[in-house]
Amino acid sequence: MTDYVVKPPQLPSLPVEGTSKRYPVRRIYCVGRNYAAHAVEMGGDPDKEPPFFFLKNPNNVLDSGKTFPYPPRTSDLHFEIELVVALGKGGTDIAVADALSHVFGYAVGIDMTRRDLQNEAKEMRRPWEVSKAFELSAPCSAIVPAERIGHPDQGEIWLEVDGERRQTGDLNQLIWKVPEVISHLSALFELEPGDLIMTGTPSGVGAVKKGETMHGFIAGVGEISTPVG
Ligand code: MN
Repeated sequence: MTDYVVKPPQLPSLPVEGTSKRYPVRRIYCVGRNYAAHAVEMGGDPDKEPPFFFLKNPNNVLDSGKTFPYPPRTSDLHFEIELVVALGKGGTDIAVADALSHVFGYAVGIDMTRRDLQNEAKEMRRPWEVSKAFELSAPCSAIVPAERIGHPDQGEIWLEVDGERRQTGDLNQLIWKVPEVISHLSALFELEPGDLIMTGTPSGVGAVKKGETMHGFIAGVGEISTPVG
């Protein structure tokens, strides 16, 4: 057994529905502006530009039901409800037609964002990590295996804060579909089992405050409930 000079970090993981086994998280890739209406609300162009990606840290995942701690250095903490893809097989240069065979399952995730710091980063042409990859910034539901639910490409996706609907969309509004996202990403990175992909958020992103609870839903996939503390 390898002897380490400091205590090795714990492997981040998520529960898998229907089993006591967990899904180990290796990387978290995120797609930016993947719903036309959200691209417009962020000041972008809804036309089909190539997808762009950023990453969160693997240990940013937070199980559904657990309290998300309001992060420091922000006064504009935003929610972004997203379909999460969990890969079961890796690869590079994966063809669109073959991409879904690399998927283990799907989940409902929230891409928590310090919007004020992200706007500042955009203005100053700085990287996004401090606005996107902070502690527990990726609350995620249990992963549902694709062998149980198939590969959802349509159906409602929404987020409520304290029972009030804030985001509504449909998976069929994704600009870049899941197979295309996997294919693009695999041309840039060597994908592996354990890689999560947050596929982008529909319009209606907004701020959440301490004491409120976010509740997200994706038809055919599941739900997430995350109190902000
Ligand atoms: Mn996002």
